[in-house]
Amino acid sequence: MASLSAPLDKVRIIARIRPVLGSEREMDIVVKNDSNLVIMPNPKNEKETFTFPFHAVYPMESDQAQIFAEVSPTLKHLFKGNDVTIFAYGVTGSGKTHTMKGNKAPAERGIIPRLLTAIYRRGKELEKKSNGEMSMCAIMSYYEIYNDKVFDLFEAPNKRTLAGLPLREQHGKTHVVGLTEKEISTLKDFETLYDMANNNRSTSATMLNSNSSRSHAIICVRVEIKNNETGETKIGTVSCIDLAGSEDNRRTANDKERMVESASINKSLFVLSQCVEAMQKKQNRIPYRESKMTRILSLGQNNGMTVMILNLAPTKKFHQDTLSALNFANRAKQIEVKNDPPPPPPVLKPLGGGITGPPRREFGTTK
Ligand code: ADP
Ligand code: MG
Repeated sequence: MASLSAPLDKVRIIARIRPVLGSEREMDIVVKNDSNLVIMPNPKNEKETFTFPFHAVYPMESDQAQIFAEVSPTLKHLFKGNDVTIFAYGVTGSGKTHTMKGNKAPAERGIIPRLLTAIYRRGKELEKKSNGEMSMCAIMSYYEIYNDKVFDLFEAPNKRTLAGLPLREQHGKTHVVGLTEKEISTLKDFETLYDMANNNRSTSATMLNSNSSRSHAIICVRVEIKNNETGETKIGTVSCIDLAGSEDNRRTANDKERMVESASINKSLFVLSQCVEAMQKKQNRIPYRESKMTRILSLGQNNGMTVMILNLAPTKKFHQDTLSALNFANRAKQIEVKNDPPPPPPVLKPLGGGITGPPRREFGTTK
């Protein structure tokens, strides 16, 4: 039986299986789970089954509060002045936006609004406990990366320059020049700005004749904790990323614009998997400079915590792309296979989908 090796503290990779929706049929379910394993048949030979281990697997009936409980331990890192990064990865339609943003009904709120609620609550508690000696300030920015260009989501789509915002290096850090930063003093402030920016995101996608699932949406909240007596300030940033859909558009799309989109998505997701793998293995060199997204995030540089949520659509229609996504997540993990005798050699071939790069060992095990 395969299990994930330690350490679990800095990088957590979890899977969430969404329920069967509307026109989908229960009989078409191909993704199953058993404790921390995701189990799926080989689309080319249904008698063969692949299993993929995770730090945790959330089955179909899991609700938004349970998913939030998975990421809420990151708050203590943030308040200590470390960076926290939370990714939602998966095929379009697998539940990334539902997981990150969710809906307005209280039970349906996603990770981002819940995180903001928790940040304000913790900030208030800190101020109260310290009798006003400590204070918290939260500053938000929100941008998307489309075709490797950075666009400010606080800016009206018709004001955008096609080239996107430039990057600049300063004191070893990468900054997006001209990116709007807004101080958010209340949860209400946050909600107004968040809704406006999300509207900008869908309008700009329409203007580009694309779809918002073809861009990465990145929201950053910088939390500054200040000791008002000594002036000492701790700064931590939480970034929540609703990634572009991981499906292989090269299979279905043949127009040039979709091919360009697809190539830039593949490259950034590939670099992301390499960074997460390097962090998981505690390697000294994290190749975060090799894509714009990981470079802006300075992924792995301010030793906080990273959570990767793999969203899975359970039915046959997504079978091949889901398998690619599971292989992606397994690239990003260090897996210890505790079998005696040693397990058979890996059986999955690169799927020709989703991710480009050198051939790599695939980790799905058969049973
Ligand atoms: P993605 O952002 O990955 O393209 P969405 O979050 O838009 O996918 O989800 C696709 C559809 O499935 C949406 O209608 C969404 O409301 C629904 N959905 C996703 N996850 C869940 C869930 N856990 N429970 C209920 N509905 C969900
Ligand atoms: Mg989405």
